[in-house]
Amino acid sequence: MTDTKAKQKIIIVGGGIGGLAAALALTRQGIQVLLLEQAEHIGEIGAGIQLGPNAFNALDALGAGEATRNRAVFTDHLIMMDAVDGNEVVRIETDEKFRERFGGPYGVIHRADIHLSILEAVQHDPLIEFKTSTHVADVKLKSDGVEVSDTNGNVYHADAVVGCDGVKSVIREKTIGRHHRVTGHVVYRAVVDLENMPEDLRVNAPMLWAGPRCHLVHYPLRGGQQYNLVVTFHSRDEEEWGVTDGSKEEVMSYFEGVHPRPLQMLDRPTSWRRWATADADPGLDDKEPQTDGHQNARADERQAHDRVMKSRHDRHRTGQQRRDRHERRVAAKNHRDQRIGEHQHPQRGQNLFQVVAVIQAADDQPLDNQTI
Ligand SMILES: Cc1cc2nc3c(=O)[nH]c(=O)nc-3n(C[C@H](O)[C@H](O)[C@H](O)COP(=O)(O)OP(=O)(O)OC[C@H]3O[C@@H](n4cnc5c(N)ncnc54)[C@H](O)[C@@H]3O)c2cc1C
Repeated sequence: MTDTKAKQKIIIVGGGIGGLAAALALTRQGIQVLLLEQAEHIGEIGAGIQLGPNAFNALDALGAGEATRNRAVFTDHLIMMDAVDGNEVVRIETDEKFRERFGGPYGVIHRADIHLSILEAVQHDPLIEFKTSTHVADVKLKSDGVEVSDTNGNVYHADAVVGCDGVKSVIREKTIGRHHRVTGHVVYRAVVDLENMPEDLRVNAPMLWAGPRCHLVHYPLRGGQQYNLVVTFHSRDEEEWGVTDGSKEEVMSYFEGVHPRPLQMLDRPTSWRRWATADADPGLDDKEPQTDGHQNARADERQAHDRVMKSRHDRHRTGQQRRDRHERRVAAKNHRDQRIGEHQHPQRGQNLFQVVAVIQAADDQPLDNQTI
């Protein structure tokens, strides 16, 4: 850890999986973190999440690997099925050979469990201060850092801010002006208890049933006591981003013509949550952001530009003055030599040598790159 890093402080907005992981990654560099989360209690909603070998490597690096492993289910295979004829399309073994090749296991976990595993590491990290019930409303970019304010009227200062505030990110909107875009994919998610799971689908694998403009995935959670069910389809309606209660009738209407084996899964959940999904282009927006912070940043840019131009002008002027002085000195010497030559011929060689020495002395002075 260097002194400079120890003095750096970064604000992270959002205490989801992304925000917590970012906080741990920063403190591993010796950077202090202030985490601001709008929710009163930290927790995760949703169902399961799949973790490839690289995810476990990343979690190990953050100090959350062991806790996550203890809560994950390690699968035997990855299976893809044809949802219309019910046949297997491909099966990948995730055994020891797979683990050796990819440097880690393939796992599945409840979202609440992976979130908790990372949260535990955050809570033990003395470099992280975690504030809940804090809804961030604005961010201003300053010449010496950032100023973040919340809806309670509090203002926080830091060297930088990281926006991990999800799809409707305030930080993204205030800094680069880009909004989320709705994809048109709708995802239904549910958790099914083991006793409700069809016997022939109690498989220790993420099993994906691919159909026309729809697919369905299920895999075990929490030691196989529960199963995660995810159903995705391309919506025929104009969607708005959001999470609502879903209806079995809507799901069934998108799965007409699907094989009875995957179809039986749609009967099992007792309640569904419906996500109209969205994403965001990570690139910068074309339009200029209109925040005060941006104006400050632009003012800083202008001042920096003016400083560069003035410095160039000064250096140009200094260089020109130096060349003028040099020419005057050479002219004076020449004039004197001429006079000496006219009157004292024996010393002429010595005087010529002195003139060359003067010119060399002038040439030894550094010339301004900008003016040659
Ligand atoms: C059920 C489900 C299953 C999924 N399965 C997978 C999977 O298998 N594999 C995969 O890679 N991805 C999966 N995803 C997607 C993945 O989980 C998400 O992309 C990821 O969790 C996003 O994390 P995040 O921290 O960036 O955002 P979020 O989880 O949205 O967290 C944002 C946080 O910021 C807070 N916040 C928002 N605005 C403010 C504000 N103004 N001030 C303060 N706090 C604020 C919110 O309260 C929230 O806590 C799944 C998603 C869901 C819902």
